[in-house]
Amino acid sequence: MMTINTASSDAGADRRTFAIISHPDAGKTTLTEKLLYFAGAIRLAGHIRSRGEHRRTQSDWLAMERARGISVSSSVMTFEHAGLTFNLLDTPGHHDFSEDTYRTLSAVDSAIMVIDAAKGIESQTRKLFEVCRLRDIPIITFINKMDREGRDPLELLDEIESTLALDVSPITWPVGSGVNSYGSFDLLKSKLYTSSAGRGGAYDRDLALAGLHDPELDRIVPPDVVSAFRDSAELAFSVYPAFDPKSFLQGHMTPVLFGSALKDFPLPRLLEVLAEYAPPPQPQPAEPRPIRPEETRVTGFVFKVQANMDANHRDRVAFVRLCSGRFRRGMRLKHVRSGRALAVNNPIFFFARERDLAEEAYPGDIIGIPNHGTLRVGDALCEGDDVRFTGLPNFAPEVLRRIRLDDPIRGKQLKRALNDFAEEGVTQVFDLVSGNGAIIGAVGQLQLDVLSDRMQSEYGIRVGLEPAPYATARWIRSKDESAFKLFIERERHSIARDRDGEPVFLARNAWELSHTQDKWPAIEFLETRERS
Ligand code: GDP
Repeated sequence: MMTINTASSDAGADRRTFAIISHPDAGKTTLTEKLLYFAGAIRLAGHIRSRGEHRRTQSDWLAMERARGISVSSSVMTFEHAGLTFNLLDTPGHHDFSEDTYRTLSAVDSAIMVIDAAKGIESQTRKLFEVCRLRDIPIITFINKMDREGRDPLELLDEIESTLALDVSPITWPVGSGVNSYGSFDLLKSKLYTSSAGRGGAYDRDLALAGLHDPELDRIVPPDVVSAFRDSAELAFSVYPAFDPKSFLQGHMTPVLFGSALKDFPLPRLLEVLAEYAPPPQPQPAEPRPIRPEETRVTGFVFKVQANMDANHRDRVAFVRLCSGRFRRGMRLKHVRSGRALAVNNPIFFFARERDLAEEAYPGDIIGIPNHGTLRVGDALCEGDDVRFTGLPNFAPEVLRRIRLDDPIRGKQLKRALNDFAEEGVTQVFDLVSGNGAIIGAVGQLQLDVLSDRMQSEYGIRVGLEPAPYATARWIRSKDESAFKLFIERERHSIARDRDGEPVFLARNAWELSHTQDKWPAIEFLETRERS
């Protein structure tokens, strides 16, 4: 049985809630596994991927995820290290930007950005970074795969600086790369993280050195490699600013570590940087005012709902990020959307290797609340006054499809399944007011694949997805009631309602959308909708 450190101050000062963001294949899974290993949370590296395990890690449970080698669902891994409690939230690493990812990032206080040294900043890294930037989330950069031939370190730093408009401050610098890799040198501590096996070996040795010119380096590293290393490290020292924790916390500067998740260097140092500099729980944007972690009453919000985590129980779990107060098991919290009290009797902590009942939890912690569909993404739970957390919007779908049911008798199950998926944020569903059925909306093609796949595997329903005559959707509203009514009447064939009954305009193409917008200046067309 795992226990969580309960000696926390009520503000969760010892919590570090973070995510790892990266483009597929940059090494996020490998890094996650190794971080858990070096933090002592799992015994064996390789644990995450062992298939026969009874308790598979949450990030790996979807059949489709395994088949496609991608992580479709986000999940939580809690571990303790260096007197702190870390909550690592997994972000989906696939190509399509999804709402899931966005919302997961709304629940973290910092992120590690993993970059493949041979590839630099890739499209998904960039998108995820933009989401972090919206909230100025502090980012630690890990440039991975230094054990392979990669791009020049200085060039990589320049790319981060220029494409992300972020100050970079190198913390560790690679000593050689590819077959000539000798590890990583700590520019702040003057230490070499290297291998006793020599070049290309896995990290197992820390060497304290008296600076870049310590002759000890020449004993370990061949002359050509060491001189190239000294030149570039010296240049890095002179060109890039010293690490400024304040600027990092404001989201303006990123500390950069060069290493290899595969060869383990310098992963303990990465954990150390995380422990030392990543911020404790931050105030959460909310109405009528931001929620500070020091507040005594308990508040939290649902950032993810996962259905059918356990096929035998058909349970669904709402992942709640606690934002303030000291939570205790059995507490009755107000479910703000319905106005009802909810007794939280079986909250779950997700440890790296197992789940356990959460007796107590603090700001920054993530608890899973099993429920039967009461809790939705964006919902607030609180003790006392109502609060509404902001920044968890729905996004206008970019792919719209009509759904075809192969077996019409299963209409009811279909409806339930669509509802479940909408709740999880996989896809959205829009009912045409003309009575012509429902349109499925997704932010990307992958969500539609997930939908068909899960329809069959979890609900036993076969569906076909057919082109819809619409290309895009916008939520609509207006201060001018009569204009709004008239608009809905005139454009009836293009109006639908989302699952909360909010009106949506479906456009056949971009031209029709802009034409309609010009024609109806009193109507607002919104690309996102904040949940109420
Ligand atoms: P993800 O898609 O970001 O989760 O990436 P994975 O962790 O699954 O890694 C993708 C591939 O890169 C796998 O074949 C890994 O073994 C490999 N990989 C990850 N980290 C390293 C590294 O530091 N060096 C090398 N050479 N390969 C790595």
